[in-house]
Amino acid sequence: MCADPRGATALPDTTIKNTSGMARLVLKFGGTSVADLDRIRNVARHVKREVDAGHQVAVVVSAMAGQTNKLVEFCREASPLHDAREYDAVVASGEQVTSGLLAIVLQDMGVNARSWQGWQVPIKTDENHGAARIRDIEGSFLSERLEQGQVAVLAGFQGVAPDNRIATLGRGGSDTSAVAIAAAIKADRCDIYTDVDGVYTTDPRIVPKAQRLDRVSFEEMLEMASLGAKVLQVRSVEMAMVHGVRTFVRSSFDDPDAPQVGENGLPIGTLICDEDELVEQQVVTGIAYAKDEAQISLRDVADKPGVAESVFGPLADANINVDMIVQNISPDGKTTDITFTVPEGDFERANKVLEDNRGVIGFQNLEGARDVVKVSVIGIGMRSHAGIAAQCFRGLASKGINIRAITTSEIKISVLIDSAYAELAVRTLHSLYGLDG
Ligand code: ADP
Ligand code: ASP
Ligand code: MG
Repeated sequence: MCADPRGATALPDTTIKNTSGMARLVLKFGGTSVADLDRIRNVARHVKREVDAGHQVAVVVSAMAGQTNKLVEFCREASPLHDAREYDAVVASGEQVTSGLLAIVLQDMGVNARSWQGWQVPIKTDENHGAARIRDIEGSFLSERLEQGQVAVLAGFQGVAPDNRIATLGRGGSDTSAVAIAAAIKADRCDIYTDVDGVYTTDPRIVPKAQRLDRVSFEEMLEMASLGAKVLQVRSVEMAMVHGVRTFVRSSFDDPDAPQVGENGLPIGTLICDEDELVEQQVVTGIAYAKDEAQISLRDVADKPGVAESVFGPLADANINVDMIVQNISPDGKTTDITFTVPEGDFERANKVLEDNRGVIGFQNLEGARDVVKVSVIGIGMRSHAGIAAQCFRGLASKGINIRAITTSEIKISVLIDSAYAELAVRTLHSLYGLDG
């Protein structure tokens, strides 16, 4: 057993790997949590609490809030078509600053700490600069330092590509750094400290009645993250799922020396875990929304074999992800309409690809809409309950909200609607499925 009942070991089912009760932890702090020196000092107190409890601690930090946006903007201003490798050199710098500052503050508090940049570990990525994937992390050197009692403060969001240059992991990538490091050093748990005290049934910023979930399955979290809940980067959830990293989302704003403890004596937060560890299961777990989709409709496309390939083949070749697809049955057997969505950032490019292939596809009109939002209902309970989709459609209809496209999977239903109705739709569905607190 560990000495500190309020700290890390009070968490549910934490595996303690050695007999001394000491755990190996990764603590990740997001941008708002390190927004200024006062907040960095607060973060340092969280770190010190875990160190004082006898744990081995690796810390992963994001850049100060707003800093990455500024750096991205500098690159755009410098040149709209900039070199992605230089973009990485610029935007990775935000995390270099916070890792150094946190190490300084920790040292000042008497904690043995040092900063690590991605290339120093090294965190090896692929060559996809700007949205690189982690391929391999050399965990042994880091583990040795932790065993010697040093706190490793790692710059999140960055690694080194095969060309030996800095690579960044895509926006929100520090979550993925943290989980990947936890897997590499075989940490007992990865704590994601953020500006909310856990994962909620929907974004608490738009639905004040949203409720914190004590536990959520990897699979549901993966859907929630990929459907817009930006509390965790999608890849971090994939990584946690594949490597079985116990991931706990909690608030950095709690008083570090008196962590909030709920009724069950556990810290407040959300454990992302295997489905069979869930205590109770609602049919619907959460509602997510994503504003970064755009709709494209091709009118009067010839209704013949091969037409879908002529539309989606060139888009795939251009590396444009297509999400929702709706194709109508043609009334006369000659022409039909095809509607689909692409990421908003690829909208112009998708239009160009389609116009360039107009002769082969043979459509009459191309209509586009950017003012759309995808709202999704997520829950593993849907596998065994019928009628969830019908309930969703009825609820939206009762508010006069028109559905432009629908997709479903075993555990989610997504609808595309006008963005003006986004919040109304999220609130309506949240309440309809009994999620309001
Ligand atoms: P960090 O800077 O710590 O990485 P982010 O801003 O990336 O934090 O993620 C936290 C934010 O995610 C919250 O402030 C909240 O508005 C948003 N969010 C969206 N959906 C959810 C959800 N279902 N549960 C909790 N937070 C959510
Ligand atoms: N600073 C990076 C971003 O803003 C990475 C992160 O915060 O996770 O996207
Ligand atoms: Mg984030």
